Parts: sequence; C-alpha cells; structure tokens
Amino acid sequence: MRCVYCKSEIHDNRSMEICDRCGVNVWGAKMFSAIRQATDEARDNNDLCRTNMNPEEVPNVGKS
Ligand SMILES: [Zn+2]
Repeated sequence: MRCVYCKSEIHDNRSMEICDRCGVNVWGAKMFSAIRQATDEARDNNDLCRTNMNPEEVPNVGKS
C-alpha cells in the first residue's frame, strides 16, 4: 500500500495508510505513535473500517 500523503510505499502492515515521515510531520512523533497504536488495536478488534479513518478529522493536539 502507499502513503495517502506522499504516495511512498509502506512496507509494514499498519492499519493507517500514512508513512512515518508524513505522520510525524502532521501530528508529531508522540501523537502519531498514539494514533497508530489506537488504530492498530481497533483493527485487531475488527471494529475499524479504513474509510472511517480520515486523518483530517483527527484533532491537532498541542498546536492551538
Ligand atoms: Zn508519506
């Protein structure tokens, strides 16, 4: 699969289609890590539809 932002190839099996570079750029390392963990856990529980995960709807914490 490819990153939705930069279209670079993502090689691991994360549930978000966003590469580390873009994720950290958008949310910051700490927030991106938390989001990845949350979405991966949700996927593991089979209650996440990929189309429901719109990166633009995630609040930009700490950047008021
Ligand atoms: Zn990217």
